[in-house]
Amino acid sequence: MSVLVLVEHSQGVFKKKSLEAIQYAANIAKSMGTSVTAVATGNVGDNEMQALGQYGAQKVLHTTDARLDNFNSRAYTRVMLAAAQKEGAKVIVGLHDTVGKAVSPRIAARLKAGLVAGAVSYPDLSKGFVVKKNVFSGKAFAYVNITSDVKVITLMPNTFAVVKGEGSATVEKLEVTFEDKDFSIQVTGVSKASGSVPLSEAELVVSGGRGMKGPENWFVLEALAKELGAALACSRPVADSHWRPHNEHVGQTGGTIRPNLYIAVGISGAIQHLAGVNGSKTIVVINKDPEAPFFSAADYGVLGDAMEVVPRLTEAVKKFKG
Ligand SMILES: Cc1cc2nc3c(=O)[nH]c(=O)nc-3n(C[C@H](O)[C@H](O)[C@H](O)COP(=O)(O)OP(=O)(O)OC[C@H]3O[C@@H](n4cnc5c(N)ncnc54)[C@H](O)[C@@H]3O)c2cc1C
Repeated sequence: MSVLVLVEHSQGVFKKKSLEAIQYAANIAKSMGTSVTAVATGNVGDNEMQALGQYGAQKVLHTTDARLDNFNSRAYTRVMLAAAQKEGAKVIVGLHDTVGKAVSPRIAARLKAGLVAGAVSYPDLSKGFVVKKNVFSGKAFAYVNITSDVKVITLMPNTFAVVKGEGSATVEKLEVTFEDKDFSIQVTGVSKASGSVPLSEAELVVSGGRGMKGPENWFVLEALAKELGAALACSRPVADSHWRPHNEHVGQTGGTIRPNLYIAVGISGAIQHLAGVNGSKTIVVINKDPEAPFFSAADYGVLGDAMEVVPRLTEAVKKFKG
């Protein structure tokens, strides 16, 4: 009756958010007196899977059908259902990301399970199985009690800090019988977004809005990001105007990030933008308008012109590092 977790890797290396999901599942398993089984697909080595024990997994079920190398929501659902049946899982944890958002509702529907999407707390078992989640673009919280026998949760990435511990997981092969319809839609190729730090995993993010005036001015943000080792992000109008690629767009209709430091330059701080970034640990806002709403969500604010403030900040970082 273990707690099941779907884990994701990139070229054989598990993503930080998957380690966080395992740790989250381990906490739930501990309070339920059970264990954690991770489910991995595709080309990943035994050592990498065993190392999931350091984050709380006792077992890893591994399926190596080559058709699973690229994400496929139907086939991944089939894998999770096979794992849930094998383990008699009562709690199934995914991430509130592209994969988890596609697979978890399918699992919940097939198992007639209650689903909490975007959890930001551990379940409170003293009151049933109550999980806290963000609502209204992060402006409020809802506390949802899952009363079904099987429970499905997607965890908001970057909710908890990942702490490496001791331990080694056992690895078992998971045999899955697929049906043709599982592969009726196939991803035939993937082109990776450029940038040295993936935005969803970044601890430091430098983000630009319409106040940057145009793509020709982005070099100042790129220089700051390079100096800090940060990822770049942007507001939606910036991506819509093709100043920056869409994978950098954060907010209600873009990515949700929770870095340690979010530097917002020339961004007004509309609620739809905040929805994607207000979980950041520290927010620094650079804006020339003292009335910009973002200042009220900021930990630190700099009132000034982006083209003057950002280069000076980059110089200061350089000096500090030197
Ligand atoms: C359904 C819906 C979903 C949406 N989803 C998203 C979303 O996911 N993400 C998102 O970002 N938006 C989203 N939006 C749009 C959102 O409402 C705002 O319009 C948008 O965030 C504004 O972008 P901005 O702050 O870059 O631009 P603006 O609102 O134009 O703000 C520009 C800011 O730059 C400042 N500025 C100007 N010049 C300078 C300078 N030289 N130096 C420093 N500061 C300067 C200005 O004072 C201003 O505060 C959504 C809207 C809707 C209706």
